[in-house]
Amino acid sequence: MVRSEVIVAGAGPVGTVVAYALALRGIDVLLLEASATCEDDMRASTIHSSTLSLLNGIGITDRLIDVGLKAPLYQYRIRSTNEVLEFDLGELSDVLEFPFRLQCEQFKLARLLAHELEASPNANVLFNHDIKSFKQDAAGVVVEAETPAGSRSFQCDYLIAADGARSTIRRQLDVSFDGFTYPESFLTLSTGADLAAYFDNLSFVNYVSDPEEWYVLLKVPSAWRILIPVDESEDDAYTISDRKTARLFQGLLGDDTPIETNHRTIYRVHQRVVSKMNHGRVLLAGDSAHLNNPLGGFGMNGGIHDAMNLAAKLDDILRNNRNAEELLGLYDRQRRTVMHQFVQAQTIRNKKMIEESGKESRRQQWDEMRAIHSDSGRRRDYMMRQSMMQSLKAEAEIR
Ligand SMILES: Cc1cc2nc3c(=O)[nH]c(=O)nc-3n(C[C@H](O)[C@H](O)[C@H](O)COP(=O)(O)OP(=O)(O)OC[C@H]3O[C@@H](n4cnc5c(N)ncnc54)[C@H](O)[C@@H]3O)c2cc1C
Repeated sequence: MVRSEVIVAGAGPVGTVVAYALALRGIDVLLLEASATCEDDMRASTIHSSTLSLLNGIGITDRLIDVGLKAPLYQYRIRSTNEVLEFDLGELSDVLEFPFRLQCEQFKLARLLAHELEASPNANVLFNHDIKSFKQDAAGVVVEAETPAGSRSFQCDYLIAADGARSTIRRQLDVSFDGFTYPESFLTLSTGADLAAYFDNLSFVNYVSDPEEWYVLLKVPSAWRILIPVDESEDDAYTISDRKTARLFQGLLGDDTPIETNHRTIYRVHQRVVSKMNHGRVLLAGDSAHLNNPLGGFGMNGGIHDAMNLAAKLDDILRNNRNAEELLGLYDRQRRTVMHQFVQAQTIRNKKMIEESGKESRRQQWDEMRAIHSDSGRRRDYMMRQSMMQSLKAEAEIR
């Protein structure tokens, strides 16, 4: 049976980052991915400043910058009045190594790292390996994967579950995943059309508030992307139909020029955190451990923060003989605390803000936002929080 020090389940952004960070430290890693390739996944498009700094530690940031778009500015807009509050990360150049958000499709990161891992002497990547089960004891973990050639077994000291929201490994651990699911779904569309031509002074990241139909408008190198809520009663076939798409663009752009789309995808959105991320030799990271709405772009970024934290701890355990229970317990405490206190709280607030309804309670959210925007100290704090610098600092203080 093939034995590695660490097996990583899932070649998404979190699995590839943790596998690469471990391989660079000289740890033997096997990355098992159920699909035939790193899928053309368009979900995440923003990499925050804090994450760019972490990825710089493993030599990847410059290569991502080459294939992404620097977005120092982001905007909040009220659709009905065209009021715009613009935030400029350039104001934090004195403290941020990368004073911008990088707009980059998430599959570019996963593919780049999978490619690097394939070339690494102490890493191996196997696609078409769908993990079906695992067993752990004091000596290690045995993982069973289904492949086109039949079932295969692998052994390791530690198994990292970076197998996404529907994680097979999380389900087998039988750990609770409490939180809630929003009643509405979210539709994302992408188009090669130049949507900036329809708006004044649009930035690459725009959150547009509206009581009826809020939306997020984001630029990535290959497309403009729109994220929009869909009423729970709406039929999925209609949601992704040409008729709905034409109506949507007409409403957003005030023009009935036909806009061609490249992707139309419906997502259910959850706010959930597992009750524990460390289970003996099995560790959860990324979407297998926590889910949140995409307003602010924290899901993948938070998962990469897990990956970098966990890689450092496993290195200390495997190479420096440090106490595994202690360090992996600390991983759990640090990452779950930050997930609850920062990511869950902030994404719920971000969604409330964009749903501005004209009602008194919601108007207060915008008054608060204007107050933050007009005060340079509060504006800096806000940008530090939204770029996930504050959560990274908070994590390091948890012992
Ligand atoms: C519309 C939308 C927009 C988003 N935008 C952002 C954003 O801008 N910024 C941000 O930070 N986050 C964003 N997110 C969240 C982000 O996409 C996820 O948090 C991120 O993909 C999680 O990465 P992951 O590697 O944990 O999981 P995934 O990306 O889901 O990867 C899991 C991998 O595991 C594989 N796998 C699954 N089961 C098995 C198995 N049994 N065996 C082997 N392999 C398996 C899968 O095939 C997949 O490759 C967005 C989400 C949505 C829905």
